Amino acid sequence: MAQYRQQAAPPAVATARLPALFVGHGSPLNAIEENEFHRAWRRLGETLPWPSAVLCVSAHWESDGLRVGAAALPETIHDFGGFPPELFAVEYPAPGSPVLARRVAELTGATLDEQRGLDHGAWSVLRAMYPNADVPVLQLSLDVRRSPAEHAALGRALGPLRDEGVLVLGSGNVVHNLGVLDWRRPDGFDWAQRSHERIKAALREGGAPLVNHRELLPDADLAMPTLEHWLPLLYVDALRRPGELATPLTDRVVLGSISMLSELIG
Ligand code: ZN
Repeated sequence: MAQYRQQAAPPAVATARLPALFVGHGSPLNAIEENEFHRAWRRLGETLPWPSAVLCVSAHWESDGLRVGAAALPETIHDFGGFPPELFAVEYPAPGSPVLARRVAELTGATLDEQRGLDHGAWSVLRAMYPNADVPVLQLSLDVRRSPAEHAALGRALGPLRDEGVLVLGSGNVVHNLGVLDWRRPDGFDWAQRSHERIKAALREGGAPLVNHRELLPDADLAMPTLEHWLPLLYVDALRRPGELATPLTDRVVLGSISMLSELIG
């Protein structure tokens, strides 16, 4: 399939309703390492209906006031430090979509941002899913002024996009504590594993109080000392329609304190 796409035009854009996707992105190295996560993301790109565009809500774009990326050719932002030069050399030249940016602004009240590029929360995953960069990509920021319930409401406002061929991608990590991260540890600390399992169960059951993570998680302060990696999940969960399933895709805790849980909704 990947071979085919290198030689031919992209497949026809799906006309059916698209699922919504939350991806645990983890280390930026997942963008260039041929590991289980990169492979899972590639498979997703090969098996999901072909979208007209991807709208990404990433942990790595927080702003004062809601913004939507409206650049025609968004630059690749290397928003990390201490990684090898080959990671800084990665360019992801997917086009933007000023037309869809205006549609998102209409649905959410976001301000158009013609300067903003793509952060690694978006391109580390999309580089694996759509290696030819042939799907337009834009991002919606996380407005730091809003409460979790208001983030979920914004997610609901994006609902019509699923019927317009747009793949809404939330990119974060449902357990994310860099302060205690252990690069030598292949699995998770006990508290991280507990939180990961609790969130997975909550998504399976549906209707969970995701907007109140303290109610959900016994180890909330350890699992999520800050909320930016958690909030993208609220957008994706808010897009769930009655009767739709949440299906775990990648399902492991790594480096002690990072959940790589990814979920497909719909
Ligand atoms: Zn991150």
